[in-house]
Amino acid sequence: MREPILLTPGPLSTSLATKTAMLTDWGSWDDRFNALTASVCRDLLQIVHGEAEHVCVPLQGSGTFAVEAAIGNLLPRTGKLLVLVNGAYGRRMAQIAAVLGREHQVYETADDTPPSAEQVARLLQADPAISHVGVIHCETSTGILNPLADIARVVQQAGRRLIVDTMSSFGALPLDLRSLPLDALIASSNKCLEGVPGMGFVIARRDSLQASRGNSHSLAMDLLAQYEYMQQTGQWRYTPPTHVVAALRAALDQYLAAGGQPARLARYQANAELLIERLSATGLKLFLPPALQAPIILTFHAPDHPGYRFADFYQAVRERGFVLYPGKLTHQETFRIGCIGAIDHAEIEQACAAIAQTITHFGWNR
Ligand SMILES: *Cc1c(COP(=O)(O)O)cnc(C)c1O
Repeated sequence: MREPILLTPGPLSTSLATKTAMLTDWGSWDDRFNALTASVCRDLLQIVHGEAEHVCVPLQGSGTFAVEAAIGNLLPRTGKLLVLVNGAYGRRMAQIAAVLGREHQVYETADDTPPSAEQVARLLQADPAISHVGVIHCETSTGILNPLADIARVVQQAGRRLIVDTMSSFGALPLDLRSLPLDALIASSNKCLEGVPGMGFVIARRDSLQASRGNSHSLAMDLLAQYEYMQQTGQWRYTPPTHVVAALRAALDQYLAAGGQPARLARYQANAELLIERLSATGLKLFLPPALQAPIILTFHAPDHPGYRFADFYQAVRERGFVLYPGKLTHQETFRIGCIGAIDHAEIEQACAAIAQTITHFGWNR
C-alpha cells in the first residue's frame, strides 16, 4: 500500500528525493553543513529577488516561531502594529503582538473579504503611532489571496513598514522585492517549497534588521544575533535542524530544476483547477469567489446533508488513501483541500474519485 497522500497545506507530501536527503547525519560544525545552510539562504533570497537590500535569517521551529521572531525583533518595543485580519493566521499575528506586550490594532474583515488598501491608508493617517503593518499574503484558513501590492503601496506612501506572512505562498506565488516595498516576509520549509517541517525564515531589509538591536523579547529568537553569529561562523547559533536543512536543499534543487516559481505556480494552478472541476461535478461548492481563491488551498462547503460529519468523511477518504483538512470557519461547515505538495494531476484525479465515492457511499448527495 502507498502511504496516504496529504492534501494538507504543510506538512505535505514530499518527494522521494527530499525524503532520502535526510539519510545523512550532519555535524553542526561541519564546513559542508555550513555551506548547505548558506546555499539554502542564498536561494531563498533569490526566489524573491531580495539580494540587493534584504537578508535571509533562518530560524529553528515551525512557521509561527519565525512570525513571532519577526514581530518581536522588527517591531520596536515602542512601536505599534496594525494587523490586517481575515482568518486564523491574521488573528494569530495579533495574538503574538498581545503576548509580546506590543501595542497593536486590528483591522478585521470577513473570511471571504480582502482588506481594503484605502481603509488601511485611512487607518494609518488617523494614527501616527502605527509604525508597522502586518498582513497575511495567502490566508490559509480559507485560501483567500490578499491584495499585497496595493497594501504595500499605501503603507510605503504613509512612511510605515510592512511585515508579511508569506508562509503559504512563498515559492509559488510571484513575489519580487525589487518592486514590492516590504520590510520583511516570513515563510517556512514545509509549504510551497515542499521541504519537511522544522525551520522558518525571515527575509528582512538589512538596515531594519541592523536597527533591531535591543528589540528582541527572547534570547533564542533573536534574529539579529542569529544573523550575526551566522555571518561570523557560518553556523546556526544553537543546534540546527540538520536533516530539515538537507531536505530543504534537496527540495530547492528539485524546485529550481523544474523551472522555479512559474513552474510551481503552474502545477498548483492545474491541481486547483482540476479539483474545482471534479468536485463541482460531485455537487460540492467552493466557499470563495474564484477570483479571490489562491491555488494553494481550497475551501469547500461541506455536503448539504443532515447526515454529514467531517470525522466520517475524513476517515473514509483516508481509507482510500488521501488526507483532507478540516475547515477553519466558525459559522459554516466547510472542509479544505491543499493543492500543494509533491502531487500532480494523477494524485488529484484519484483524490477526487475517492471523495466522490465517499459522498455516494454515505448518500450525502441524495
Ligand atoms: C502554516 C502557516 C503558518 C505557520 O504555521 P505553523 O503551524 O507554525 O508552521 C503561519 N501563517 C500561515 C499563513 C500559514 O499558512
